[in-house]
Amino acid sequence: MLATDNLREAERLMTICNACRYCEGLCAVFPAMEMRRTFAAGDLNYLANLCHQCGACFPDCQYSPPHEFNVNVPATLARLRNDSYADYVWPRALAGVFARNGLLVTLLCAASVAIFIIGFVAFADPAALWSRNAGDFYKVMPHRAMVLLFGLAAFYAIVAFVFSLRAFWRDIGGGSLGPAALAQAVADTFTLRYLGGGGGGCTSENEEPSSRRRVYHHFTFYGFLACFAATCVATLYHYGFGWPAPYAFYSLPVLLGIVGGVGLLIGPAGLFVLSCARTPKLTDVARRGMDTAFIAMLFLTSLTGFLLLVLRDTGAMGLLLAIHLGVVFALFLSLPYGKFVHGLYRFLALIKYAGERRSGTSVD
Ligand code: SF4
Ligand code: SF4
Repeated sequence: MLATDNLREAERLMTICNACRYCEGLCAVFPAMEMRRTFAAGDLNYLANLCHQCGACFPDCQYSPPHEFNVNVPATLARLRNDSYADYVWPRALAGVFARNGLLVTLLCAASVAIFIIGFVAFADPAALWSRNAGDFYKVMPHRAMVLLFGLAAFYAIVAFVFSLRAFWRDIGGGSLGPAALAQAVADTFTLRYLGGGGGGCTSENEEPSSRRRVYHHFTFYGFLACFAATCVATLYHYGFGWPAPYAFYSLPVLLGIVGGVGLLIGPAGLFVLSCARTPKLTDVARRGMDTAFIAMLFLTSLTGFLLLVLRDTGAMGLLLAIHLGVVFALFLSLPYGKFVHGLYRFLALIKYAGERRSGTSVD
C-alpha cells in the first residue's frame, strides 16, 4: 500500500495511462511508464521527476476532467515531485523547510545577512562602508572573511545535495552510471528536450502551446552557468595567477558575469510572468511559493550584482556589496531546500531513463 494520497493518485493515473498509451510520443515519462506494469513509490518518484511539467498531456486527454476518470497527469506529478523533495532531503529534520521556503522567508534571510554585514563593517571601520573604495570590495569585507562565509555555505549545500541525491538515486533503483547514458542525459538537459511538449511546446497560457517557457528556462539555466563560470575564473585569477579583484569591465570574469546576469534577469522574469498566466489546474498551486522564491532570488542576485558593478566606484559600493552578499548567501542557503533541487533530481531521472532506453528491457 502506497503511503500518501499523491502516490496513490499517481499510481492510479499511471495504470490508466499504461492501458491508453496515447501520449507515448510526448515526453520521457510515458515510455518509462510503459516499461513497468506495477508502480512502487520509487518508480512513481522517478516518473514524477522525469516529468518537465510541459502540460502537453492534459489538453488532448480524453479522460481529463470532467470525465469521471479525472486524469490530470501534470498536476499530479507536480504534487508528487514536490513531495519527493522533502522525502529525500538531508538532514531529514529539515523536510518541513520546503513548505516554508517562500519568498518572504528567503528575503528575510537575505536582509538579515545584509544588515549583519553592514553592522559589522560599521562597527569595525565606518569609513570603509561609505568611502569611494575604487571598486575594491575587500576594503569593505576582507577576502578571507568572504571566502570563509561563502565557502562554508557552499560546502554545506554540497553535502546536503550529495546525501539527498544519493537517497533519490537508491530509491528509484538508479544502478550504475554508464558513460553513454550520462552523455545522453547531458544532451537532453542542455537542450531541455522534454520541455518541447512533443513538438508544440509547453501548454502555458490558455492551453495554447508555446515555446516561451523553454526559452526562458534556457536563459535561466545558461545564465546560472555563466555566473558560475565567472566565479570559477575569478577564483583562478586570484589563487592561480595572483590577480585580485576588482577586474576591468572587459576582463573574462566580468564579461561572463554580465552575460550570465542578463540571462538571470530575462529568464526568471519571463518564467514568473508565464507562471502567473499559467492555468492553475496544471500545477501544484499550494506550493507555488517555492518556485516564486527561487526565481525571485535569482533575479535579485543578478539585479544587485549589476547595481554593484555599475556603482562600484561610488560611495554606495559598501552598502550595495552588503545587500548583494546577503542575497547571494540566502540563495546559497535555500538551494538544498528550494526549487533549485528540481534540476538535479530531473538530471538523475534522465540518466536512469537513458540507461533504461539503452538496455531496452522491461523493468519488471
Ligand atoms: S494522459 Fe490521458 S491520453 Fe495521455 S496516456 Fe494518459 S490517459 Fe491516455
Ligand atoms: S506534463 Fe509534459 S513532461 Fe509531464 S508527463 Fe505530461 S507530457 Fe510528459
